[in-house]
Amino acid sequence: MIEIKELHKSYGNLEVVKGVDLTVNKGEVLSIIGGSGSGKSTLLMCINGLEPIQKGRILVDGVEVHDRRTDLNKLRCKIGIVFQQWNAFPHLTVLENVMLAPRKVLGKSKQEAEEMAVRQLTHVGLANKLSVYPSRLSGGQQQRMAIARALAMSPDYMLFDEATSALDPQLVGEVLDTMRLLAEEGMTMILVTHEIRFARDVSDRVAFFHYGRVHEIGTPDQVIGQPQRPETAEFLKSVR
Ligand code: ATP
Ligand code: MG
Repeated sequence: MIEIKELHKSYGNLEVVKGVDLTVNKGEVLSIIGGSGSGKSTLLMCINGLEPIQKGRILVDGVEVHDRRTDLNKLRCKIGIVFQQWNAFPHLTVLENVMLAPRKVLGKSKQEAEEMAVRQLTHVGLANKLSVYPSRLSGGQQQRMAIARALAMSPDYMLFDEATSALDPQLVGEVLDTMRLLAEEGMTMILVTHEIRFARDVSDRVAFFHYGRVHEIGTPDQVIGQPQRPETAEFLKSVR
């Protein structure tokens, strides 16, 4: 479970997260939607301990992320994250790229890491690309490799930050399908996305972020289907 309590985060004098309370339960899919600059990416970075916070707390399975006694490397093994783009190591094959973190961070044997990497690359539909170099993959395949790389660490949580927004429109579907598969398998996920229809389909809950606050939260049918706040309705109109 991820618990965010009264979270405040500033960059210098600029407060970008202004008192956020959110809980994501095991097996739940939460989508975060909202305008540019509303603090969505910042929130994900805070969950992963990549950014310091000023007030409040974040607990992942009861472990306080910003407690200085917390082993962040251990915590990050639990939380896979997929960004818009991931720069794979160009001189390593797809398989070697996905094996790297299990080898280096988890200390897995070559054989174990390879088995895991093959399993996860197969899972995302890249079984036929194992020995190819990343530059030979399409954008959608590269994003699926990034998902496999995160999954190879056996995370309990997956965070996606606009994983499809750098892709050509015809490649978006294959990445969304992979994300949908994970959701159906019960992975606990937080998705920051502009794909509103997808968010409506796969999420248990949707949160609309507005100027660093959760302005509206509820089921997809509530927040996307029948928004109660005018700002939510306006945002939805702007992205459709
Ligand atoms: P988008 O939809 O465009 O990705 P977002 O909701 O993810 O937006 P954030 O990236 O979290 O928004 O940014 C929130 C605010 O914090 C913005 O005003 C941004 O300019 C600012 N910001 C983000 N990162 C930094 C940083 N490292 N240093 C200073 N300001 C930052
Ligand atoms: Mg962002």
